[in-house]
Amino acid sequence: MRAPLVVLAVAVVACSGCRAPGRGSDPLDAVADEYVRLVLAVGRHDPGYVDAYYGPPEWKEEAARGEPRPVADLLRAATELRARAEAAPPSDRREFLVKQLAAVEAFVRRLGGERIPLEREARDLYDIEIPRHGIEEFEAARRELEAILPGEGDLAARAQEFQKRFEIPPDRLRAVVDACLGEARRRTAALCELPAGESFRVSIVRDKPWGAYNWYEGGLSSLIEVNTDLPLSLARVFGLLVHEGYPGHHTMNILLEDRLVRGRGWREFSVYPLYSPTSVIAEGTANVGEEIVATRAERVAFARDVLAPLAGLEGLDFETMEKARDAWRVLGHARGEAARMLLDEGEPEDEVVAFLMRHGLLEEPRARKAVEFMRAYGAYEFAYTVGEDLVRAHIGNGPDRVERFFALLDRPVTPSMLRRSGEAEGPAGPASRSDRRDP
Ligand SMILES: [Zn+2]
Repeated sequence: MRAPLVVLAVAVVACSGCRAPGRGSDPLDAVADEYVRLVLAVGRHDPGYVDAYYGPPEWKEEAARGEPRPVADLLRAATELRARAEAAPPSDRREFLVKQLAAVEAFVRRLGGERIPLEREARDLYDIEIPRHGIEEFEAARRELEAILPGEGDLAARAQEFQKRFEIPPDRLRAVVDACLGEARRRTAALCELPAGESFRVSIVRDKPWGAYNWYEGGLSSLIEVNTDLPLSLARVFGLLVHEGYPGHHTMNILLEDRLVRGRGWREFSVYPLYSPTSVIAEGTANVGEEIVATRAERVAFARDVLAPLAGLEGLDFETMEKARDAWRVLGHARGEAARMLLDEGEPEDEVVAFLMRHGLLEEPRARKAVEFMRAYGAYEFAYTVGEDLVRAHIGNGPDRVERFFALLDRPVTPSMLRRSGEAEGPAGPASRSDRRDP
């Protein structure tokens, strides 16, 4: 039943090196091994850099020994290695390695004290161009919300009151999270053959700059953490677990491990440097995943009939919440503009928080959390919105949309490749509608 999907998916994106020669016969195998060791060495300078590693344990031990390698030494190694990758015959694998290595170089230059403005950080670390969004877009979305949300008077107060009703009581959260992951996994498994033995654990945590996080542990297993600093909304909890789990981060990781690392011996996929182009593909697909596995009507029915009773919430107006969603997503772009104010223009934090409250319609604690995220992750902010736009444009709205989506999860893909395919096929899908920023 599921095999035809895999065959189709391979046909969608031309894939060089499909004949899977033995390890060592491809000159990129040696480059890949050195890339992995280099990323581990760079990780000594920043504990958040290596997001996942499940390659040979002795490489990790080697990187952990002695003093961290000096920045100048790492920079030279990255530049040389990139040149070696570029000298290999053209392939998607080569392009992936070249872009990842360019990101290592840029990150190491920043470690060395070089100040990089957001637009260049986005280009050098993530292989993306970041768009500008004007106040008039936010104003139009606010007017839309004025018409949709119940009540009179101040819009921020009305929005707050409306959203409050959807907050999941902390003692019900675990049951809701488990139900979401079960449903997301069932729906994903119906569309894509998941490797046998894959698994995840869930942990509820506090005091983090993000809402949830997928920690990939290798061996087809993830730890999914859900942060309860701020209440989770019943309207977005399914999307959040889709993002972290199925067909989001956990799914992409297990497919890469199973099909590329184990299947082809492509070790470059056994390490995940967080600040790199691969994050754009990961965040973009994770954000779009919700629409791949369920229609809007199915999502509303699941939230109303399954999640609301589990959360002990009654009388929720899901129809209005759904109507408001697109406008809220437009307001999500206020975060990108706020990031420019904070990080490039040096505006005081209180000004940035006020901007987010006014134009992003965020409550103050959420605006402060957004600022905390920007300070911690910089241009990573744009991996969500730009990634989502690139993925939407690439998969299009045709009958092969689902196949094209899953074909992004199990092979080397860069944002540049998606941009080229988007340009070749013309714009597809609506403008970015991201509302989720959880690594
Ligand atoms: Zn994420």
